[in-house]
Amino acid sequence: MKSHGEHIHPVFDQLLSRTDKESLLHQKAKVIWLTGLSGSGKTTIAKGLEAKLHQKGFLVMVLDGDNVRAGINNNLGFSDEDRTENIRRIAEISKLFLNCGVIAVCSFVSPTHKIRSLAADIIGNDDFVEVYVNTPVEECERRDVKGLYAKAKKGEIKDFTGITAPFEAPKNPAFEVKTENKTIDESVNEVMNFIVPQIKMKR
Ligand code: ADP
Repeated sequence: MKSHGEHIHPVFDQLLSRTDKESLLHQKAKVIWLTGLSGSGKTTIAKGLEAKLHQKGFLVMVLDGDNVRAGINNNLGFSDEDRTENIRRIAEISKLFLNCGVIAVCSFVSPTHKIRSLAADIIGNDDFVEVYVNTPVEECERRDVKGLYAKAKKGEIKDFTGITAPFEAPKNPAFEVKTENKTIDESVNEVMNFIVPQIKMKR
């Protein structure tokens, strides 16, 4: 009796690889992991990066609190356990995008070495590109985009990073951008110039 196997074309007998997807999209996938205080500029830079990379022909997915906590992680709160689970899921989602050849830009405070290494371990160190958005806490407080610093100072938010909970600065980030005294465009361009050579497919 003939086995079913011989009727299956060998190429279609397996899942396509990440390289196949990257070739289709003509890009190298990476996870760009932006870490920094609330108000440091992560989301602003992520959005700027997405727009500029898109313009250059790269397919990018931005993951941030807005699209993750509102959806897949809407059952999670802010306990230590839930914060870890939040980052674990984000890292797993990023890995799915990575394996689909897509550049994922992740914008999360991710304040501790432990939580960032959890993400790096899931994603894989070679694909995890840690970008430290370094803005002094005083400047973040001045910006106070969401009014969170004012609330934290009044004691209305428990364990607020930079005020009542520590931010552990990355010891050896792949890239560091200092946003104080820079325009948004300057910050985005700095990160762009660092990223593009890594995601460009060689001809
Ligand atoms: P985060 O996502 O880190 O909480 P946001 O991107 O939401 O921070 O907010 C950063 C704020 O800082 C925005 O209001 C942005 O316009 C402002 N800002 C000023 N200068 C810069 C810069 N050079 N890079 C990024 N953001 C900047």
